[in-house]
Amino acid sequence: MTPEEFRRIGHRLVDWVADYRAKVGELPVMSRATPGSVRARLPQAPPEKPESWDDVFRDLDETIVPGLSHWQHPSFFGYFPSNGELSSVLGDYLSTGLGVLGLSWQSSPALTELEEVVLGWVRQMVGLSEAWSGVIQDTASTSTLVALMCARERSTRYGLDRGGLQAGEKPLVVYTSAQSHSSVEKAALLAGFGRHHVRKLPTDQKHALLPSALATAIREDVDKGLVPCAVVATLGTTTSCAIDPLEPLSAITNEFPLWLHVDAAMAGSAMILPECRTLWEGIEGADSLVLNAHKWLGAAFDCSLYYVRDPLHLVRVMSTHPSYLQSVVDGQVKNLRDWGIPLGRRFRALKLWCLIREQGVEGLQARLRRDLENARWLELQARGAADWRVLAPVPLQTVCLRHEPAGLDGEALDRHTLVWADRVNRSGEAYVTPAILDGRWMVRVSIGALPTEHRHVEALWALLQREAEAALAVRAEAS
Ligand SMILES: *Cc1c(COP(=O)(O)O)cnc(C)c1O
Repeated sequence: MTPEEFRRIGHRLVDWVADYRAKVGELPVMSRATPGSVRARLPQAPPEKPESWDDVFRDLDETIVPGLSHWQHPSFFGYFPSNGELSSVLGDYLSTGLGVLGLSWQSSPALTELEEVVLGWVRQMVGLSEAWSGVIQDTASTSTLVALMCARERSTRYGLDRGGLQAGEKPLVVYTSAQSHSSVEKAALLAGFGRHHVRKLPTDQKHALLPSALATAIREDVDKGLVPCAVVATLGTTTSCAIDPLEPLSAITNEFPLWLHVDAAMAGSAMILPECRTLWEGIEGADSLVLNAHKWLGAAFDCSLYYVRDPLHLVRVMSTHPSYLQSVVDGQVKNLRDWGIPLGRRFRALKLWCLIREQGVEGLQARLRRDLENARWLELQARGAADWRVLAPVPLQTVCLRHEPAGLDGEALDRHTLVWADRVNRSGEAYVTPAILDGRWMVRVSIGALPTEHRHVEALWALLQREAEAALAVRAEAS
């Protein structure tokens, strides 16, 4: 494709994306595709001859879009907000258009230095001290894996330079709550700790990690001859947005000492609001944290921000120095390949830079405050409605709900919940995610998609009530 053809088709493509975003609210939120239906519409062999862009655009409209669940839809209340602000989409597109790689500082100096600057901006935006240094990773899963590898190496005094974990005599132990994200357990297993050495600790009534349970577990493990190594605390669990108490947890980890990694993948964005920062009091006592700018904040996926207090340790664990990557300025610059696992690095800072410049901190704060108010409104409606229960505190934007009509409990209640949630999703009018909390199904409403205004949350509340009542009526007829 020549630059001139690119200009022509590129304009058309930008128009197409703009139209998509403008009209996405008219599409059914959850895709109605059935398994294999998209694949069946596509040729199984590649085209031998060049095809026209008209055909590509037709397939986008007729095959791809109907096969999507629309995360940028105003009535997307599923999983968590994964906002791709259009300013950030432009930054992402710039990154791809430039096509540069940050293998070392010298391979694209601006790539490294813009990343340093923008991560410094976000550090200030969320109120972290200057003791933190950040780097962009692809996802929170990778960030947590890096954190646990760093914890492992601190506990073994750089065992990787000798026999690694295979030479260790005493097993290392990782602690987290039973509510933490599946990526935490995965990271612990991949970092070599082994399932027997991952403790999933009990939580309190608010589903937050109990510091006393951590203290007890550490003592028991020491008595058994094991080595406590790391704690992964969560700011905003996926199921109910529970907030682990960092102040008492960091008091324990600093005394021992253990590595404290904070998974603030979702809720970290809220720390740009000074009034929310009490939620992570104690954060300065942690060793590392992850905040996904590609969730609520609005940077197009993928843009996971990993902050550490001891970058020299991170670099010592992650660095490699083959001759072809060495340069004379190595002593004066950051080589971000030494700040994580991959060598190749895209210019992801651009999408965060474009987002923050276009919105300003105030623009981002205003949007998050809008979402918090909408969540509080929904919580109030549900608390005031007969037969509805709010199952967990609502510190931020996730509301956990259940319709509990008289006479339904246990498995019958579970069936009812899953039926009405499915009716909501099939209606195409909104998208919610059911999940299990305290052993029973409930429905999470995760508020915070970019175009979600108050009226969309009002419409959702009406829809939830309508479908729950309809499910009940169908049930009554059947019995
Ligand atoms: C979304 C989320 C994750 C996983 O994020 P990825 O970036 O997709 O790996 C982990 N932990 C929490 C608390 C999350 O909200």
